[in-house]
Amino acid sequence: MCGIVGYLGLKEAYPILINGLRRLEYRGYDSAGVALINGGINLYKTKGKVSELEAFVVDKNTKGTVGIAHTRWATHGEPNEINAHPHFSESEKLALIHNGIIENYNVIKEKLIKSGVKFTSHTDTEVLIQFIEFIQKAEKVDLVKATQLALSQVVGAYAIVIVSRDEPDMMIAARNGSPLVIGIGKDEFHIASDASPIIEYTRDVVYLDDEEIAIIKRNEKLQIKTLKDQQKTPFVEKLELDLCALEKEGYEHFMLKEIFEQPKSIRDSIRGRLNIERDTIAMAGIIDFEQRFLNARRIIFTAAGTSWHAALVGEYLIEELARISVEVEYASEFRYRNPIIDERDVVIAISQSGETADTLAAMRLAKSKGALIYSICNVVGSSIARLSDAGSFTHAGPEIGVASTKAFTAQVTVLTLIALLLAQKKGTISKSKFNQLINELDTIPSKVEETLKVSEQVREMAKIFTYTRNFLYLGRGYNFPVALEGALKLKEISYIHAEGYPAAEMKHGPIALIDKKMPVVVIAPVSGIYDKVVSNIQEIKARKGKVIAIVSKGDKIVSALSDYVIEIPHTDEVLSPLLSVIPLQLLSYYIAVMRDCEIDQPRNLAKSVTVE
Ligand code: GLU
Repeated sequence: MCGIVGYLGLKEAYPILINGLRRLEYRGYDSAGVALINGGINLYKTKGKVSELEAFVVDKNTKGTVGIAHTRWATHGEPNEINAHPHFSESEKLALIHNGIIENYNVIKEKLIKSGVKFTSHTDTEVLIQFIEFIQKAEKVDLVKATQLALSQVVGAYAIVIVSRDEPDMMIAARNGSPLVIGIGKDEFHIASDASPIIEYTRDVVYLDDEEIAIIKRNEKLQIKTLKDQQKTPFVEKLELDLCALEKEGYEHFMLKEIFEQPKSIRDSIRGRLNIERDTIAMAGIIDFEQRFLNARRIIFTAAGTSWHAALVGEYLIEELARISVEVEYASEFRYRNPIIDERDVVIAISQSGETADTLAAMRLAKSKGALIYSICNVVGSSIARLSDAGSFTHAGPEIGVASTKAFTAQVTVLTLIALLLAQKKGTISKSKFNQLINELDTIPSKVEETLKVSEQVREMAKIFTYTRNFLYLGRGYNFPVALEGALKLKEISYIHAEGYPAAEMKHGPIALIDKKMPVVVIAPVSGIYDKVVSNIQEIKARKGKVIAIVSKGDKIVSALSDYVIEIPHTDEVLSPLLSVIPLQLLSYYIAVMRDCEIDQPRNLAKSVTVE
């Protein structure tokens, strides 16, 4: 989390930096700051969003062609002006922005305090810049060397950029665990947490690797060294990112835009992979490791949040269709619990951003034990994509709303393709079932389009539930993960307490919560377990709960029992999550709108969770 931006070039840095912060605000928005080099260092910081920083800076001196800026998601120290980045060193000659956590900051801080260094903030970040300056003075070394020495003693994750009053034509950047991209333009350099602030200036970028440090100097070529001072040749890649995708394009919020983009994002995730005429699925990453997949003892998914819900759908898909045993793990648990894993296992990491810290750590652990590491993520060049042996990108385009929507359906689409491909290769699916499912998958984008027509109906319904305090979401089979996802969406953006449960588990506890005030969203499209879901609805009705049912078009039985009914197009049960999740995304969106919540930047949350 936290967004960092840096600029060195011929243009005025401030507007470029503020623009960049706006693009990165999804990563954190509790405070913001900017430091500009112009003779000295002009440093401005505020609590709150980037717009508040702009308002504060309006009458200040913003001159300078070198600068750094930050939008924060606090980990250490409350979100206030003092703890906001950039942080000065004691002499105020150096300023630093940071994304990540310096885990051993306390030990270093104590040593520095003993040596007389004075601190002004409560952050782990300030410790780092003070430490660098301390080393610089104590060891009489230049800034690059001091940074290398300091970072060699740091435990934790960081992406940092440093500017120096005494060396105004230089920026130093480094990373370990947190993302950092350097854009190389004509007579200028850009630095950012992701490519979105860079794209309008240049398409030539270098992704910094862990334990690398970039030395950026005016009129000189980009230099990259390791912490141990080994010279590296920068690997320049071409960015492929559509600038329009970063704008709201007339929608009130990114989240709504992204919900409505799903026909396209699903289609883009299928395109080039599914060949209906030939009955084939092409996924190079799987084919390259075909034997490892087909002979896998287990497939283990590791993920967090919404991606974890997609992984659950993946489990149902792969076990049913390809008959390979699957486990789904929270990355944050997996990485710390000494799991049994070896080279017979395939680990699939799922992450929208490709930067999720826990997922990355889980992958490293599995890699060290010899497992094949596959990834499903949405950002080309991301750390997860680069760490994996192979992978499949979701082609959802940039997802900016903090609550994930189109990334989820794109992940489920890719998982469906993987399951079908493995099933075909393993011979665990009949030719006719395979044909039926690929043909049906091909129609899903247009069925999502049709599903989106419930938007107005859901908006009306949201008015009824605007001030409800609790919600229950129930589903079975493929729609159990959808129930979890629906509940998560509601919590995330409307701050209403919601729980997702497998419908039949309700009687083991949550049923005690049901009374006439409790809305229960039941996901009940046509499926092999439809009758069982009907019984679960009867149990809710017997206790006077309010049932909101998601059903297949023309449904009679569930509809007759339910208080509110939302119809979705018919599809095969296996593919139903791709449709049933849509009304749930819309429900959470419209309830949050009616409650006047910050849709794209919900409180306490941020996207791209780069801290553990
Ligand atoms: N640890 C730093 C802070 O609290 C940066 C946090 C982050 O990158 O999320 O300010």
